[in-house]
Amino acid sequence: MSVAGGFDVLVIGSGASGLAAAASAEAAGASVAIATKGSIQSCNSAKAQGGIQAAMGEEDSPEQHAEDIWRSSHETADRRLVDVLTSEASSAIHWLEAIGVEFTRESSANGNGGYRLARCGGASQKRLLQVGDRTGHAITAALRDTVEAGGVTVLPKSPLHELARNENGWAARCGDETIHAGTVVLAAGGRCFAEAERRGELSTNHPGATGEVTRIALDTGAQARDLDALQYHPNGGAWPETMQGYSIPETTRAYGAVLLNADGEEFTDSLAPRDVVSDAIFEEVAKGKGVETPDGRPAVYLDTTRIDPHDAELSLPYMLRRYRAGGIDPLAERILTYPVLHYQNGGLVIDTEGETTLEGLYACGEIAGGTHGRNRMMGNSLLECVVFGRRAGRAAAARH
Ligand SMILES: Cc1cc2nc3c(=O)[nH]c(=O)nc-3n(C[C@H](O)[C@H](O)[C@H](O)COP(=O)(O)OP(=O)(O)OC[C@H]3O[C@@H](n4cnc5c(N)ncnc54)[C@H](O)[C@@H]3O)c2cc1C
Repeated sequence: MSVAGGFDVLVIGSGASGLAAAASAEAAGASVAIATKGSIQSCNSAKAQGGIQAAMGEEDSPEQHAEDIWRSSHETADRRLVDVLTSEASSAIHWLEAIGVEFTRESSANGNGGYRLARCGGASQKRLLQVGDRTGHAITAALRDTVEAGGVTVLPKSPLHELARNENGWAARCGDETIHAGTVVLAAGGRCFAEAERRGELSTNHPGATGEVTRIALDTGAQARDLDALQYHPNGGAWPETMQGYSIPETTRAYGAVLLNADGEEFTDSLAPRDVVSDAIFEEVAKGKGVETPDGRPAVYLDTTRIDPHDAELSLPYMLRRYRAGGIDPLAERILTYPVLHYQNGGLVIDTEGETTLEGLYACGEIAGGTHGRNRMMGNSLLECVVFGRRAGRAAAARH
């Protein structure tokens, strides 16, 4: 069965990258459908808490942002993609504001355009914009409103099973339907939920993050890079049980929390790149200097009592609420943490318009590789979703 007439552009996935692509393709005049695995709300993007990077500070620049990415990726990122990402960051932020995202601002003028900026791991400047600690929720809600207010056809519960090229573009089997489209944008995210299950580990990801769309693209002939490079979030919640698999926002460390071993000693730079911090925790525990959770899991301390309560109320309200509901006040006692599987650094090879190595097949967001090389800095994924989602949507609309 086919959906009447087909579409100019078919987007697979309804996270931040898919929604940005659909909104941009529609704004460029294309007829657009989004087919997604679960409900339109179901995605990793909405779970993102910490924030989104953009060089808005007086002392900062897109070039410095690009340099930080290059260093954090251990010089493995695709510099052309990095330059696009960082040079379009401020216009991405202004676009998000235009569709209704309200970033947290300081009460007084601060030389940073008024934004409250935090420094994240691997960054040389304060560059992280936030919406409290529900940044992904705010961004996806605004993107969904934009998509739903326009003429985009949304097909929930329509997972992609098969993709084939035909003379007019592509035929995609989504759920029980075959959808025809001139071009296709793959925005189906990463695979860390499935990978964590396979390894018997915890993950921060939503259950739809299973990676089959990458496999379908590879089977269709697309190329990928760095697929083996999976990222651990250095600070998974380790206790209480209700917080296991929760990613404690990196902004806790940006606002002064530090990692401590069993003896209360700092054993690493808490704001180093993610892989460095995760490895330091693994090593400290292997040396016998970790602590154990009440249910026998390995952990170290995150000393959140060092966070100024004013910063915590403004930038970490959700995290505080969740821990306090579990009987622990992070401003009064240290919390237990251990790395959890979090992000797929690599993915499908794309060019600066988001086109994969197959003509008319685009990819954006976590499913695409290159922008972060083998190690992503926090806050650059939401940015990548918006910058490359918009680019891929526009290019897919132009090519159909
Ligand atoms: C807990 C958490 C906190 C995070 N915090 C931050 C942060 O502070 N800053 C930051 O920049 N990044 C953060 N990240 C990373 C970032 O949120 C994600 O990498 C990014 O949002 C991924 O967006 P996406 O659109 O590529 O994929 P997702 O948002 O994962 O969306 C993928 C979509 O594809 C759908 N899908 C999957 N398979 C199929 C299929 N077969 N057919 C159809 N649809 C399918 C899914 O259901 C979903 O709708 C965080 C991630 C997590 C999990």
